[in-house]
Amino acid sequence: MGKNKYYCKIDGKVYNFQKYVELMKENREWDAVEFVVKETGYDYGVSGNISMYIRALDFEIPAFIETSKLPAELKRLEAQEPPQCPRCSSTYITVATEGSWGINNPVNYCIKCGHRWNPRYGFK
Ligand SMILES: [Zn+2]
Repeated sequence: MGKNKYYCKIDGKVYNFQKYVELMKENREWDAVEFVVKETGYDYGVSGNISMYIRALDFEIPAFIETSKLPAELKRLEAQEPPQCPRCSSTYITVATEGSWGINNPVNYCIKCGHRWNPRYGFK
């Protein structure tokens, strides 16, 4: 296992998510979820939650995931306070898209000062 950044322990079992990240880089989100389904044996609901969570982490594969805690965790991420510009503290924010990892990711865009940043679903 070592320091391979693609390994993730899900409910106590270790999986290699390299292929998942590659599929997401190719903008093949559906294939990526299918990969999680086939790899882990979880249904599309749970696998979709795993995928949403990894996306919320900017595709950095977390060291471990407990699927029973994912729905609450995703709800918590969604319920974060409205975004505030880290540069000028304005809350006059809109969403733009920006390519990274070959994917058009939504980014927060400050209408007041023009600053763009990755919302990371509320992570600072
Ligand atoms: Zn700003």
